Amino acid sequence: MTKHTHKAALLIVLSVSLVGCADISLTAPVGTEASATASPVISPKFSPTPSPTQTVKPSPTPTPTPQPTAVPSVSPTASPKPSSTPKATADPAKTKPISADRTPYSWYYMKKKTGQVPDFPHETKTFTSDQKAVWVGTGKKVYLTIDAGGPLIEVDLMLKSLKENNVKANFFITGNNIKKNPEYLKRIVADGHYVANHTMTHTDFNDLTDDQIRKEIKDFEVVYKQITGKDVGNYFRFPYGHYNPHNLSLVSELGYTSVFWSTAMRDWEPRANGAEDPYNDIMNNLHEGNVILMHQGSIENMQALDRICKEIKKRGYEFGLVTELQPKK
Ligand SMILES: [Zn+2]
Repeated sequence: MTKHTHKAALLIVLSVSLVGCADISLTAPVGTEASATASPVISPKFSPTPSPTQTVKPSPTPTPTPQPTAVPSVSPTASPKPSSTPKATADPAKTKPISADRTPYSWYYMKKKTGQVPDFPHETKTFTSDQKAVWVGTGKKVYLTIDAGGPLIEVDLMLKSLKENNVKANFFITGNNIKKNPEYLKRIVADGHYVANHTMTHTDFNDLTDDQIRKEIKDFEVVYKQITGKDVGNYFRFPYGHYNPHNLSLVSELGYTSVFWSTAMRDWEPRANGAEDPYNDIMNNLHEGNVILMHQGSIENMQALDRICKEIKKRGYEFGLVTELQPKK
């Protein structure tokens, strides 16, 4: 395969992949019906706080170099560089340098028939024990993950639906959101849901330097602790599902397991059939260990949540917390 066709192939893969955490991001419907002609969609609907990347980031490109133009508001002198020196704070027993591979990836999966676990990208097979990540579990369990990197809508309805069905969900919230809405976080914690680190500003990590990435994660930890008085759990999600092997290692080194997913939806734009759409999208891909990604900012998701919880239980699944999902050793 020539370099050119390789690039083209990669672009097609990326264009059909279903990127979640798509507080704005991509893409096409998952699965066999996915069309390679589907182009990345940007919707301002789920834009969290104003951030340059969210207006300039239509899609990942297969170029291995981060684009300095997309780096938001931070020192241009901090140029991305492969970090091969272990941090001073790193476990002294761990002398292995972290991956220098910055090939950009955008999470996706290949949907199969209802009830069958999807296929996952080839690159997952290359993840090492220093690149802690999970994307699907096993058994009759479902992991509902709610991305709150965008607008916080229908909060009452959401919490009521979860509570009435006795479902504990996993929330991936941005620091900016909880800083502006501390009560939102307090209610979620009070209801016993799990909260994970979804960065401070929801900036694409593939555009950031190591120091900027550390700051995104640490800033979230600080604001979370200010509001709850507790340390945040050690699970994490990349904004837009954009990552590279180096960043996966870096996040692991900071103590986090990255959570991807095995169901996501085009829920960053209005749904043609209202609440029927998220219901069908989820039920048609329900499988063992299903990690479901839904965005808080979709009103149709919130309207469908009660019915989704009931139907998943009716089909014999239990809801679990992502903390039950352990990365490969
Ligand atoms: Zn997100």
